[in-house]
Amino acid sequence: MGATDCHVHLSPLDGMRPGPLAMLGAGTPELRRVIEHPKAFLEMLDRAGVERAVIINYLSPKVIGYTERVNEFSARYARADPARLIPSGGIEADHPDPKREITRLVREMGIRAIKLHPPHQLFYPNDYLEGRPHPRLREIYATAEELHIPVIFHTGTSVFPQARNRFGDPLHLDDVAVDFPQLTIVLAHAGRPIWMQQALFLARRFPNVWLELSGIPPGRLPSYLPRLAEFASKAIFGTDWPGPGVRDLGANFEAFRALGLPTDVQRAILEENPKKVFRPA
Ligand SMILES: [Zn+2]
Repeated sequence: MGATDCHVHLSPLDGMRPGPLAMLGAGTPELRRVIEHPKAFLEMLDRAGVERAVIINYLSPKVIGYTERVNEFSARYARADPARLIPSGGIEADHPDPKREITRLVREMGIRAIKLHPPHQLFYPNDYLEGRPHPRLREIYATAEELHIPVIFHTGTSVFPQARNRFGDPLHLDDVAVDFPQLTIVLAHAGRPIWMQQALFLARRFPNVWLELSGIPPGRLPSYLPRLAEFASKAIFGTDWPGPGVRDLGANFEAFRALGLPTDVQRAILEENPKKVFRPA
């Protein structure tokens, strides 16, 4: 116990576009049960020896079919056990009043992290720079920084239909980390599989940038990130269950534990670091 799964997708399935839904196993009976009953999910965590989970939700009305409803779902789901379930929520890159919206999500609804998915929301994280199309991103980051709420960015590729992968290169976050030095930035999937060097560079350069290892088959981590043990102080683990290719949350944790990483490295990645990024309620 003590471990956090930093990346679990639990969202309402109705309203999703057919392509992405099919890629989530079209909502297997197990997934449907877990989505309806947080208790069933907590039992799944118990079986896996996992204490906490970050419930990932973000907005992507066009590409995935995730509308504002997912924020309400995320917040409500986590109320089943706020000590163990950490809800994330999303916002559009061109929201007219990001400060008010994020403050509402956090203060009124209890959302504890913002998730942005550039390849599914179709923007570059640094699109607030002079002359670029999403100046309001600046206020999104400034507000999250002020409220001490981490921003989780999908980095790396996505094979969902209509995803645009040029937006997945983590190097665009270099600007964000420079301009918002107090903002906690999570690089979900560590730039997998084609930008892992960029992700690693950012996590090494910036104290508040974290490598998040979900969505990579744990058995492949040693070949993707051979020096992982050296950067253990900047890494956190997650499964990305029930994303494509991730059949079983518990098996994913088992595979990570079976890598034979030194005990202190495992403890840092599974237990200690996630508590720095997603602070206990
Ligand atoms: Zn994910």
